[in-house]
Amino acid sequence: MSELAWDEYQRRLVEDGAIVFVPVGAVEQHGYHLPLGTDWMMARYMARRVAEKVGGIVAEPVAYGARSQVRTGGGPHRCGTTSLNAETLIALLHDVLDEIGRHDARKIVVIDSHFENRFFLDEACHRAQGTLALKGRETRILKMLYAERINPDTMKAVYQGIDNPPGLDLEHGGVLETAMMLYCYPDLVNMSRIVDEPRPDFPPYDVFPVNPDWVPTSGCLSSGKTATRMIGELLVEEFVGHVTEAVRKEFP
Ligand SMILES: [Zn+2]
Repeated sequence: MSELAWDEYQRRLVEDGAIVFVPVGAVEQHGYHLPLGTDWMMARYMARRVAEKVGGIVAEPVAYGARSQVRTGGGPHRCGTTSLNAETLIALLHDVLDEIGRHDARKIVVIDSHFENRFFLDEACHRAQGTLALKGRETRILKMLYAERINPDTMKAVYQGIDNPPGLDLEHGGVLETAMMLYCYPDLVNMSRIVDEPRPDFPPYDVFPVNPDWVPTSGCLSSGKTATRMIGELLVEEFVGHVTEAVRKEFP
């Protein structure tokens, strides 16, 4: 989107009925070996790959996301984890979607890459669709966490050689994200900085203020040391397939 002239953008929306992709991520610590921008960069990568397949346009990402939670993202307390208040995130995404719809995009895809965003993005999409409908726009929005589903065979390959796999609950900065980053942004991964700490054993509740002792020192909830580029390729290509399938189904 940012590389197009306004009239070209307009032509793509109005004449071609192009799908507009809005990546939404987070700026959040991912241990010592992955960059703070891991989530939003992965969302943008996914959006670009799927947009290429369906002739879509990738809008600028909403890089910041909802507050990191201890049991899913290592928590809000580490330096660099730069989150939005829920109200800000809802309002920000609502306004972006409302503007894109006002300019006659009829098909918008929101690609989410950060677990904590989920219900706030739903709220923003719901409100934006409502405000656009009041203005007489027939905009439809598809929202998807790109890693919503994983084929069990892929999971087996991901955790091959690990006796006691952490599972998706502890996958912050672990094998999945490390492998995907090795495939998509290899220059930004430093495998030599991965530490293998005991995994956290979270209680089934949260406390405020957070207790930093709940989270391993690195900030990762499981170790990414067995990650490889090949595992990353397997995961990324599967997710690109899932998102493409969803987009083609809803926006034939
Ligand atoms: Zn992440």
